[in-house]
Amino acid sequence: MDYPSNVSFVIDRLEALGHEAFIVGGSVRDSVMGRIPNDYDVTTSALPEQILSSFSDMRTIPTGLKHGTVTVISGGEPIEVTTYRIDGDYLDSRHPSSVIFTDSITADLSRRDFTVNAMAYSKKRGLVDPFGGEADIARRLIRAVGEPKRRFSEDALRILRAFRFASQLDFSIDGETLLGARDEACGLSRIAAERKAVELLKLITAKNPSYALFEMKRLEIFPYIFGEYQPSDRVISALDRAELSARAALSLLLFECEESARGEILRSLKLPTKLFSGCETICRRLSQGLPSGESGARRLIGSCGELIQDLLSAARALSVLDPALESAVIENLRKGSCTTAAELSVRGYDIVKLGISGKAVGETIAYLLEAVIEDPSLNKKETLLSLAAERNGIKG
Ligand code: ATP
Ligand code: MG
Repeated sequence: MDYPSNVSFVIDRLEALGHEAFIVGGSVRDSVMGRIPNDYDVTTSALPEQILSSFSDMRTIPTGLKHGTVTVISGGEPIEVTTYRIDGDYLDSRHPSSVIFTDSITADLSRRDFTVNAMAYSKKRGLVDPFGGEADIARRLIRAVGEPKRRFSEDALRILRAFRFASQLDFSIDGETLLGARDEACGLSRIAAERKAVELLKLITAKNPSYALFEMKRLEIFPYIFGEYQPSDRVISALDRAELSARAALSLLLFECEESARGEILRSLKLPTKLFSGCETICRRLSQGLPSGESGARRLIGSCGELIQDLLSAARALSVLDPALESAVIENLRKGSCTTAAELSVRGYDIVKLGISGKAVGETIAYLLEAVIEDPSLNKKETLLSLAAERNGIKG
């Protein structure tokens, strides 16, 4: 197992000053699995002040000093260096009421969520794996560190993290861990919606999310995320058929939900505005059913705008995308066909110049757009002006 030289630099410096230091968590898990880690977190016996003084010649950011985390900029990249710690009592099922520093790597690993995430490694000291994380990786298993029920009651977000990791890593979840998740699911009602949404989006954008979603359905986890709504088996299976963007995947998961309940769910997840409104539009289009024919394709492009690719991928995963519609959409996008009023060869003031005013201007534009969507060859200024005149009874 290896890690990059800028990470080595941090670990070697701490060790040279008499501390222990390891890479930890996701980076060890990914390395054991032969994957390239997203980032490397370092855990150390050095106290926060000692971490700061060890790197006083380098840029450091006291990211979460109270929790023992200092970010060290090494080789131009931020590395989070955290003092070994155990969490104090959990009061509100999410925030440990106190953080206690420790000098034991095993104690630090024991507060972590799953065995596969509770390993540390350094070139000097080798792999520290007190809970059998390596064996669980070989068995492709997500298993809580310690007693699952207690770990989930300390922090219910771990329940969603279990399903999220199962989905991302394509692992199954240990039986006891699943039972613990079921028994402690009610703790999810106290978890902030944004945090639940982050885990859910990571889960559904993975390659094969159906195992995790079917288990969540069986164990009645969805009421704590979606209220009354349960995604159907059809929708869950469809998510395995394509790797989708967050917007496409969430739309797929929710389009069968009744419109006002869906709005309520999307609002409750406190999503970024763009994701929220994009999902609403795609869901509406999917639940209405897709149009057919050339003009239908143009109408779809006009009403979806930049959402069109996500709509197509969600529809394809659901097996409701007619190949003829798909090629018509692609061809019209390629040609840059006119699908919105802004792309017409006349503007509102051209219509006004004909002597048309008030509400009739907007109505005329809508009429012209409809004509051009039916027949793109009409999108020429002269043609549209005469159509507009004709519609409004103006003699040329
Ligand atoms: P990713 O590749 O998605 O970032 P990760 O394993 O690095 O996966 P993080 O959420 O970044 O996950 O957390 C880093 C590590 O911190 C985890 O591997 C785990 O050891 C620990 N951890 C994070 N959240 C929790 C939690 N809620 N309870 C216990 N341990 C946690
Ligand atoms: Mg991480």
